[in-house]
This record gives sequence, C-alpha cells and structure tokens, in this order.
Amino acid sequence: MKLSAEQQAVFSDWVRQKMEHHACSLCQANQWKIGELMPTHDAAADEFDVTGEHGLAQLICQNCGNVLLFDVRCIKEWGQHDTTHSTVM
Ligand SMILES: [Zn+2]
Repeated sequence: MKLSAEQQAVFSDWVRQKMEHHACSLCQANQWKIGELMPTHDAAADEFDVTGEHGLAQLICQNCGNVLLFDVRCIKEWGQHDTTHSTVM
C-alpha cells in the first residue's frame, strides 16, 4: 500500500540518517526512490496488518530495480501514537 505523505517524510529522513550516499549493492548507483509499504502477516490473527503501523517499507534503486526492505518498527518516529501491540521482543 502507499505510504502517506507523513510516512514518506519520516522514512526518507530516517534513510538519510542511516545510509547517507548509499550505493546500490548491485549496480553501484545512488538513485533511490521510496516504494510502498508491504503489510506483514499477523499469524495470530491470520490477517495482514493494514494499519500501516507495521510492515516493510521499500527503497527501490531507480537504475536496476533492486529493492531494499526496512522493518518500520525499527524507525522510532514511525506511528508515534501507541498501539495495543507490545513491541518488546
Ligand atoms: Zn541498483
């Protein structure tokens, strides 16, 4: 699903913080664009999480199409509002 404007801003800030001038591991280009949020499957509820609070955010190499996936739960600023789910591992 598409990222909201706010999620895009949070994600792109985070990416810039974590991997400034990161070259693609396949083609060495440094042209990334933000893709979509891939919902993760909640095995307990047997459904996909479509709230946007969990999932894998795509970062796509515009040159070769290599896709990096990031677990949004690692992004502190993501979904500042608390969820009922515990994130403690
Ligand atoms: Zn590439």
